Amino acid sequence: MITVIGAGLAGSEAAWQAAQMGVPVTLVEMRPIRSTPAHQTAYFAELVCSNSLGGNHLSSPAGALKEEMRRLGSLTLAVADNVSIPAGGALAVDRDAFSAEITRRIEAHPLITIKREEADRIPVGICVVATGPLTSDALAKEIQALTGAHDLYFYDAAAPVITLESVDAAKAFWAGRWGKGGADYLNCPLDKEEYLAFHAAISTAQKHEGHIDEPLQFFAGCMPVEEIAARGVDTLRFGPMRPVGLIDPRTQRRPYAVVQLRRENAAGSLLNMVGFQTRMTWPEQRRVFRMIPGLAQAEFVRYGVMHRNTFLNSPRILRPTYQWRGRDELFFAGQMVGVEGYMESACSGIMAGRNAARLARGLALETAPPDTMIGALTHYITSADPENFQPMNANYGLLPPYPGIKGRAERKQAVAQRALASLEMWLAETDN
Ligand SMILES: Cc1cc2nc3c(=O)[nH]c(=O)nc-3n(C[C@H](O)[C@H](O)[C@H](O)COP(=O)(O)OP(=O)(O)OC[C@H]3O[C@@H](n4cnc5c(N)ncnc54)[C@H](O)[C@@H]3O)c2cc1C
Repeated sequence: MITVIGAGLAGSEAAWQAAQMGVPVTLVEMRPIRSTPAHQTAYFAELVCSNSLGGNHLSSPAGALKEEMRRLGSLTLAVADNVSIPAGGALAVDRDAFSAEITRRIEAHPLITIKREEADRIPVGICVVATGPLTSDALAKEIQALTGAHDLYFYDAAAPVITLESVDAAKAFWAGRWGKGGADYLNCPLDKEEYLAFHAAISTAQKHEGHIDEPLQFFAGCMPVEEIAARGVDTLRFGPMRPVGLIDPRTQRRPYAVVQLRRENAAGSLLNMVGFQTRMTWPEQRRVFRMIPGLAQAEFVRYGVMHRNTFLNSPRILRPTYQWRGRDELFFAGQMVGVEGYMESACSGIMAGRNAARLARGLALETAPPDTMIGALTHYITSADPENFQPMNANYGLLPPYPGIKGRAERKQAVAQRALASLEMWLAETDN
């Protein structure tokens, strides 16, 4: 019997994998009895910010990771592939359909027992802790007391969501960058004057200050828009507001800057302001974002927010099998081990769940080969410099180079193919 604490992206995968390997699992989730500052539902594997799971093509690191996860029987990807919505080269999902279906499948699994309660202790026996960046205080204290590791904190920011019907269609146009993926984004173009006024408003808008003792560190893929604006007048125009690959059909010219809105649900009635995570106060978000052409009447169904993140110093305390160095039976998974992102969290859950099940069945524990994306991430979090440890997304820089191929695109493809071949070979050699 295995206990998995936390039914987020990682815990859902860990419970599923262990149960699929024939080991009974008790899955402990505190929502809805107690929630976190970011979750809004009682569903398992809730997506707390963007509804995009990142790139889906094999030539992108996120796409390569996904393909490896599919071959490992990932629950989150099986469901995501079923409930995907158009988003160019990315895999985006209808967020409610995604989490509802994962919850349904886990609840229906004959070997998984669900307990809706807050865990404040780590139980004896085999346990996977996957309570995420917003681990409840009681358990965070318990983990800290047990591992002795110092938690590190930084702050994420979630982007606002607005209704489609509140956008002035005459001022915006549907298109994907470089014509890719059809017309998946609604683009709000800005001329130079509008952009400069917008930049000035963001720069001076009132922000939530919070009680922050630690120096601020931001999740790289989720940096607050005002933080990007503060780096220079043009930084937004080279970041989330870059107009490259887009032609405004009314002027037949590339806009000076653009705000992209991506469908948030399958019906397409809600739109996510891509890259506009923010710490601005809600009234300021209303004021400043309504300056964007087409958004003068924008109706906000969710405002951007910021949250604390908690993660362990894994290079110091974790083995490549996801076991705590101090106790064979204790595994950690998800964002709290220092991987960054939905899919990275889920993939660490797959590995921790498989190993917890292998331990229960008396089998040797396993680590994916270092030339796979999953293996490379594991290697990074367990062997990076513990003095300067920072969470990491999937990226090709973690994988060994592939000499002899000149073109960048061809090289990426070759590295991804090598990773898949290596994964297949490893799986064939590993006894379940
Ligand atoms: C605000 C915010 C925005 C983010 N935005 C993105 C994004 O856009 N894209 C992206 O790729 N990544 C994003 N991340 C990072 C990360 O990918 C997600 O947080 C991801 O959900 C992490 O997966 P997880 O399984 O580790 O944790 P979670 O998905 O948070 O799951 C942890 C689960 O544990 C439960 N729990 C906590 N404490 C207890 C307890 N004591 N007892 C029982 N249950 C407990 C929680 O209720 C939750 O269900 C964001 C993180 C935050 C905080």
